[in-house]
Amino acid sequence: METRLDRYDGAREKKIALLKRLISESEKIVFLGGAGVSTESGIPDFRSGQGIFNQDSGLEYRPVDIISHSFFTKHPEEFFDFYRRKLCYPNAKPNKAHKALVRLERQGKLFAVITQNVDNLHQMAGSKKTIELHGSVSRNYCTSCRKNFPLAYVLESTGIPKCDDCGAMVRPDIVLYEEHLDHTDIDRAVASIEKADLMIIGGTSLTVYPAATFAQFLPHDRVVIINKSSTYLDLQAMLTIHDSIGDVLDEAIPKRARKAKIQEGKSSVSQEGPGYSDRTASKRKSKQDKQSDKTEGNH
Ligand SMILES: [Zn+2]
Repeated sequence: METRLDRYDGAREKKIALLKRLISESEKIVFLGGAGVSTESGIPDFRSGQGIFNQDSGLEYRPVDIISHSFFTKHPEEFFDFYRRKLCYPNAKPNKAHKALVRLERQGKLFAVITQNVDNLHQMAGSKKTIELHGSVSRNYCTSCRKNFPLAYVLESTGIPKCDDCGAMVRPDIVLYEEHLDHTDIDRAVASIEKADLMIIGGTSLTVYPAATFAQFLPHDRVVIINKSSTYLDLQAMLTIHDSIGDVLDEAIPKRARKAKIQEGKSSVSQEGPGYSDRTASKRKSKQDKQSDKTEGNH
């Protein structure tokens, strides 16, 4: 979809140039992303014409109903059948958007990637500062003894995945409809945005709560929107680009960060890899603790 400005020659170049300038002038950038970031990795979104909600579930239920807590509780076998077929994409790879955000983080400018996606692609690309509002398919846990399991364990099981220690059901650490978002994640996201001097919102139509309201924590002239379709904030934002999030971020975020860091004698490049598993482990532990609260709250 094009904006009025896009119809004039050079409008896109001017917008990318403005985005580059905003990024170079900013020191604390937050990225808020949605399904549009993952569609470029071949993962369908939920709401568009080709989205999961408009697809045949292969069952007698609607996709939108299947991913709810009450459905999950009543029909776990059907839930997992749908979940394995429609919500898990183990072969998906990070795209240009994920990689550009990793560059920005390594340049010391990006200090939070807030995502509504559950596919783990930001972490796979190398982002360390991710806040997954809706959880992640890569984390799964036993609903009784809390043992953790990788995605492969759920994908390779049949029917309802069962814990190999205690036999109880293993479920993905994702937030279903009717379930609470993790309040610590929301607090962290809001705190990051309040400290930011630029927020880039990408690949989201800003229709899902609470992410839709996050843009209100920053003056509109510090907000950039990159999305193929319109959002309610298009006219207020400092800059709105209706285009591919991967193409735009790839063009706007410089590729020489690595070299620059080495010249400055910083060691951020060497943190790639090892630091990640530690963080994941501690996040998993804290998620696990929080999960018990969440589950108690739901029952
Ligand atoms: Zn167990």
